[in-house]
Amino acid sequence: MTTSQAFLPFTKPTIDEETISAVAEVLRSGWLTSGPNVKALETLLSEYFGGRPVRTFNSGTCTMEIALRIAGIGPGDEVITTPNSWVATANVIIEVGATPVFVDIDPKTHNIDLNRVEAAITDRTRAIIPVHMCGLPCDMDQLYAIAEKYSLRVVEDAAQAIGSTWRGRRIGSFGDFASFSFQVNKNVMTAEGGCLVLNNDEEARLAEKYRLQGVSRSGLDGIDVDVLGGKYNMTDIAAAIGLGQMRRLEEFNTKRHQLAQHYFECFGSQFEEQTGAELPVADFTDSNWHMFHIVLPERVVRANFMQQMLDLGIGLGYHYRAIHLFTLYRERGFTDGMFPIAERIGKQIVTLPLFPAMNESDVERVVSAVKSCLQ
Ligand SMILES: *Cc1c(COP(=O)(O)O)cnc(C)c1O
Repeated sequence: MTTSQAFLPFTKPTIDEETISAVAEVLRSGWLTSGPNVKALETLLSEYFGGRPVRTFNSGTCTMEIALRIAGIGPGDEVITTPNSWVATANVIIEVGATPVFVDIDPKTHNIDLNRVEAAITDRTRAIIPVHMCGLPCDMDQLYAIAEKYSLRVVEDAAQAIGSTWRGRRIGSFGDFASFSFQVNKNVMTAEGGCLVLNNDEEARLAEKYRLQGVSRSGLDGIDVDVLGGKYNMTDIAAAIGLGQMRRLEEFNTKRHQLAQHYFECFGSQFEEQTGAELPVADFTDSNWHMFHIVLPERVVRANFMQQMLDLGIGLGYHYRAIHLFTLYRERGFTDGMFPIAERIGKQIVTLPLFPAMNESDVERVVSAVKSCLQ
């Protein structure tokens, strides 16, 4: 292997000429902000999620924050979530004035360990934000059984899970709130953006208010503001990208599956035993394979491993460092050792390249590089 091979990043968006033309058309049209393309994307997404109301936003983060606001969650309330996620998942809880309560993760799925959730519920618990990590869904039966038993709202952080399924049904097509991100690294992207799947028209109207300064309009010059909203609307430029991406979602996810499958073939059945590293759950039913992770053995220093791979022309990510160990969270009383599984995963996980434009020889190149670096 040589370093003269092209650099392989851990992810890269696929953007076709049709999408580029659609964006150019928006730019020429004179209507750049939320308009017909946003409407068209919301209609398409609503169909995709089984007819449920869907509203778009300029990030997946604000999407979750707005779901919490719609649910009326604020100061004095506790929200249960996972320490293994992008920090946004917990930040939105603090943003609305509520208190994040972490529950450790399952060492195999890296999702919140639902068997530990009940022990974390108090009389102040109002909601749970689970993450479908890498697109591998949480056990939806168990999740919603707990939510029902304790009357909790659920905001699914489905940022990574577009196209994932549970028992044959799409994530987002059932359940309570489902929040998706269209940040550039996700399976469907709009550069930046997100959408929220809601339960009814009333929630959708409220979502529109929170999205744009709390404004409601009537007639030619009727306007009122009755809730404190922000500025979270998606542009038509972004929506045009999203429409182009949605056309190819199935194709993208199929390709991700094939590449993930090839990873398993190339690592082989002896890899874990021989190296002490851990492969992800080999789920080819429900997951959309948003990312392919391996957990490095304790003997390996992740930064060194990442540097060695970089020297071979391969870029890696790490998703994610345990949230509760960030300074902001330590200042709120969280410390080392509280969630040992998330802490171990957060220190040792790496994300291998996986995106639709890759081919099987790229996978082979990554696997042989990983094997040689772990020797
Ligand atoms: C990407 C992501 C987010 C945040 O989405 P943005 O669109 O970047 O705001 C939140 N949670 C998870 C799990 C994510 O992967």
